[in-house]
Order: sequence, then C-alpha cells, then structure tokens
Amino acid sequence: DRAVSSAQAPPRLQQELRETLQRLRLGGPFYVLLWLLAGAAANLWQRFPVAFIAISLGFIGLAVVRFRVRGLPDDSNATTVRGRLDYIWLLLLVNAALWGAASAWLLLVAPEESARTVAAISSYAFATAFAHNFPMRLRHAFAAVFLIYLPTLVAMIASGARYELVGVSALYLLYVSLALRRSHAEYLQRLDLQDEWREERDLFGRQSRRDGLTGLANRRRFSSTLEDWAVAARASGTPLSLLILDLDHFKAINDRHGHARGDECLREFATRLQAAFASDGELVARLGGEEFGVLLREASLQRAFTRAEAFRAALAAAPMDTGDGIDLALSVSIGVAAFEPSKHHDAEGLYHAADAALYEAKASGRNAVRLVPAID
Ligand code: GH3
Ligand code: MG
Ligand code: MG
Repeated sequence: DRAVSSAQAPPRLQQELRETLQRLRLGGPFYVLLWLLAGAAANLWQRFPVAFIAISLGFIGLAVVRFRVRGLPDDSNATTVRGRLDYIWLLLLVNAALWGAASAWLLLVAPEESARTVAAISSYAFATAFAHNFPMRLRHAFAAVFLIYLPTLVAMIASGARYELVGVSALYLLYVSLALRRSHAEYLQRLDLQDEWREERDLFGRQSRRDGLTGLANRRRFSSTLEDWAVAARASGTPLSLLILDLDHFKAINDRHGHARGDECLREFATRLQAAFASDGELVARLGGEEFGVLLREASLQRAFTRAEAFRAALAAAPMDTGDGIDLALSVSIGVAAFEPSKHHDAEGLYHAADAALYEAKASGRNAVRLVPAID
C-alpha cells in the first residue's frame, strides 16, 4: 500500500494531465474546418489537389489522434504521467507546425485576398487560443505559438503584404507572448493555492483523528477502528481484544501538584503506553480525561491479560519523572475483554464488557487488571 502511494504521481502532475487532456480534445476540428475554408477560398482543391488533400488528411488525422488520447488512473506513477504529457505536447507541436507550414504555403501561392485573410486571422486565433489554453508548460507553449505564427508572418512579408499589416501582426505576436507569460504565472499560482488547500485539508484530517494533548489516536478514531476490527474479527474468526485503562486517583494528583503537572503525567503515561503496544495491529488511544484504550488484533483474552498485567506492573514500579526532581507514583486499573461475536454482537458490546471489567478492577482496590471471562 505504502509502496504504491510513494510511486504515485504528485497531485499537481495529475492535475496538469487532466487539464491538458480536457483542452486537447477541443482544438483538432477547428484546424480541419479553417483549413478547408481557407483552401476553398484559394481554390486549392483545383490548383494543388494532391498537396491540399495531403494537408487536409494531416489535420483530420491529428484531430482524431487528439481526440483518442486517454487519461491515466489516479495511482499512475510520475514517469507514466510525464510520458503521457510529453506525447500530448508532441501532438500539439506537430499540429502547430503543420498549421504554420500550411498557412505560409497558402499565403505564398494564393493571390485571393479572402483566402489570405482567412489564413492570417486563423493563425492569430490559433496562437491566441494556445496562449490561453496551454499555459502549463511555458517553453513548449512558446514553441507552439511561434510555430503557428512566425511562418505566417514571414510568408506575409515575402508575398509583399502591406507594411501596416505586417506591423499589426508583429505587435499582436508581442501581445500573445505577454498573455502567455501571464497565463503561465496564473496557472502556477492556482496550483500553489490548490497545494496549500490540500495540505490544510490533510492536516485537518489528521488533527480530527488525534488527541491534542498526547498525540495518540482520539476517541473518534478509536471507535471507528474498533468497529472495523470487530467486523473483520467476526468475518475471519480471529480474536480481537480490548483494554480500557483508567489512572487511579488522578484527581488527587491534580489537586496536590497542579493541573500542568497532571498534563505532564498524562503525556508521559501516553508515551509509555504507546511504547508498550507499538506493533502492527495494536492501536493506542486516549478516550478522554485520564482514560485510555488499547485494541489488540489477533490477541486472545489470555494474551491480552498478560500484556496488560505486565504494563500495570511496570508502571507501578517506575514513578513518573516530571522533570523537576519530583517523582510521582502513578498506578492504573485495567479492564480486559475479548470479542465474542455470539455474546457481544458488535463493537459496542465488547466495549461494555471491558468497561465492566475496569469497574471490577477499581472495586477490587485499584492498581489491578480484571478480565471478563471468555465463558461465563
Ligand atoms: P479513580 O481511581 O476512581 O479513577 O479516581 P480518579 O480521581 O482518577 O477519577 P475521577 O474520574 O473522579 O477523576 C478524573 C480526574 O482526571 C478529574 C480531572 O481532574 C482529571 N483530568 C481529566 N482530564 C484531565 C486533563 O486533561 N488534564 C489533567 N491534568 N487532569 C485531567
Ligand atoms: Mg481515574
Ligand atoms: Mg476516569
């Protein structure tokens, strides 16, 4: 699971592919249409049938290929996504170069004013659309804009266009270049904002499952894990055990040493508990106040009892070091229960069983572990 997610392409890259793909589909047919229009106006069909048909087929083929490029699944790795983007840009650049060449050729061979106007205006329009639609890769987009535009401009000059027209075209190229730079900057800004939003969302997600004082899982995470594991235990028939721990006379610690030192104790206790139950399939949570829960997957009642007893004894034997020379003796009472589908029905039943065991541990005089027997 983790290996897959580390190889997975970052969200930025996936988004770049999605947006590039969306815009890729749209453009193709316009090249076909405008080429047919300009060609018809220049009567190319009769004058140069072979070249005209070859170029038309080129645009049609590109439009079809552009339309058929597919997206990639979200778990694709970065290399695959970059490869797909490179392929798309190759198509876009070939398309741009073909338009530039076709439009320049038309300007050189066709004297008809209407045909020349269609070719020139189309070139400006394609360059403008490109600057606005494909700002994801600045250098590639500049290359495409120039491939579309420059041959048209050069052919206009070579075929003796009026200098005002050449001047306006050159100025417009400058505008398109500036617009492209700006839309690239805006595109990056938008991605940054979305990154920030994703980070905040993830942070919020983590915080909503973690206890603020100790960093352990909080009650919400504990409850949902308990439910999931109970369902899995019922399905697989493997054991699932639960410990509920409650510190003894904790109110007295607060009263005697202050709330801040009480907090310090809770943190220290959480660290010890986490260290004692750190394996896979073990979840340690703060359920609230000075009450904690431990879930043990695939641990029998007897095994869970032994682990709980070892933890209780270790805690009683090693007082809390609160960092200012005062050692606080702390003890804990623990209730233990194992999931029995026929008796507990669901996660809640298991929880009540462990809670009842905890009550017995308290009643027995505290600093004790009690369990609900597997068969009663
Ligand atoms: P018992 O052995 O019966 O569990 O006695 P107790 O004093 O631990 O039980 P009780 O439920 O009466 O009191 C729990 C106390 O834990 C009350 C409160 O002062 C303290 N407590 C709960 N949450 C916190 C916390 O976040 N920080 C601190 N410092 N104390 C807390
Ligand atoms: Mg208590
Ligand atoms: Mg309590």
